[in-house]
Amino acid sequence: MATEQIATAINAWDVAQRQFDLAAEQLHLPDGLRKVLREPQRELTVHFPVKMDDGTVEVFTGYRVQHNLGRGPAKGGIRYHQNVTLDEVKALAMWMTWKCAVVGIPFGGGKGGVIVDPKRLSLREVEGLTRRYATEISIIIGPERDIPAPDVNTNSQTMAWIMDTYSMNVGYTVPAVVTGKPIPLGGSEGRNEATAQGVVYTIIDAAKHLGMDLPKCRVVVQGFGNAGAIAAQLMSAQGSSIIAVSDSTGGIFKPEGLDIGAVLAWKQEHHTVCGLPGTKDISNEELLELDCDILIPAALENQITARNAGRIKARLIAEAANGPTTPEADEILYNNGKFLIPDILCNAGGVTVSYFEWVQDLDRDFWSIDQVNEKLHRIMTKAFASTLDMCLREKVNMRTAAYLLAVQRVADATSVRGLYP
Ligand code: GLU
Repeated sequence: MATEQIATAINAWDVAQRQFDLAAEQLHLPDGLRKVLREPQRELTVHFPVKMDDGTVEVFTGYRVQHNLGRGPAKGGIRYHQNVTLDEVKALAMWMTWKCAVVGIPFGGGKGGVIVDPKRLSLREVEGLTRRYATEISIIIGPERDIPAPDVNTNSQTMAWIMDTYSMNVGYTVPAVVTGKPIPLGGSEGRNEATAQGVVYTIIDAAKHLGMDLPKCRVVVQGFGNAGAIAAQLMSAQGSSIIAVSDSTGGIFKPEGLDIGAVLAWKQEHHTVCGLPGTKDISNEELLELDCDILIPAALENQITARNAGRIKARLIAEAANGPTTPEADEILYNNGKFLIPDILCNAGGVTVSYFEWVQDLDRDFWSIDQVNEKLHRIMTKAFASTLDMCLREKVNMRTAAYLLAVQRVADATSVRGLYP
């Protein structure tokens, strides 16, 4: 079976609940609290029509899930992908709850998705789909309720359309209804790079802990979207050598190190990283198992599984993607002495700068890039240090450590609020 078939065969919601159960058990969470946090609070499914360029009408299916609203409004991205399922969106929403809690920002977790391959649609069709989907989910989103952001195959333009649609419906401009907007609409400096920037801050801290010298490290990046491409650039700026990268079409390998600027230019022109002169084409499966020091999965869920975890050679794995590693693989990696920075910590820079953007929009007061990055650095470094402390103290892997911190925070908020009515 190819990696993509294995990845879609594993149910992300099952993975998310098992990760939660592990933490709940260690924390001795009361049974009632466990039952509450194990399920999403709200799940909305929408089927909506879109007029296509040839005049026909297509009906699409989308979701918005709010896992938990205990610590604040729901927060999380919207993804467009042909393999989106309700269970996947539920998992992604739950992971957002823990992610916001790990870095201590006052949000709960949410996520949205539409079953569509946007690469097969024209720009006008994607706009039509986005505006209608935004209208359908507008019954549960809002700056105090649930604040979407970009995720796989969505970007600042998508957020601009959602912000405009929501604003037109209520009759006034509401910048804080989404984050990850273009800067002229109230977007934040540094938001576009924030996920990758946060990933690199955690890698720097992990490398310090492990005694790794970044300029001597060989890095492999799976996924060349917003997180992967920018992480590759930033790691290259740290002096590391990026020996392989991939996107959904396949990967490229160059043992002496890739020129990331050249990869970006090639991808821009050919819509794939594959075929760049001077590189060797490799599959996504081969890429994960390459001999390297740092592996950055920055694509989709379930890429590192029981099947390939034993062959991962990287010493350090930094999860820029959400849910790239299964619980079975976590155990194998841990037993093999690998150090893994879990998604809910590693890629939390994105939602952290989303929080900054929301605050700036509500205050109508905007910060410089230096202010943004300084605050982001402080938050990421603190979250990394608390997770590492927990990991060493409780003798658990970094994922369980991050869960122990996050789940306890959400559990505390939930129990101190009490049960309504
Ligand atoms: N989609 C990103 C994530 O998975 C960002 C979410 C946000 O900024 O709300 O963390």
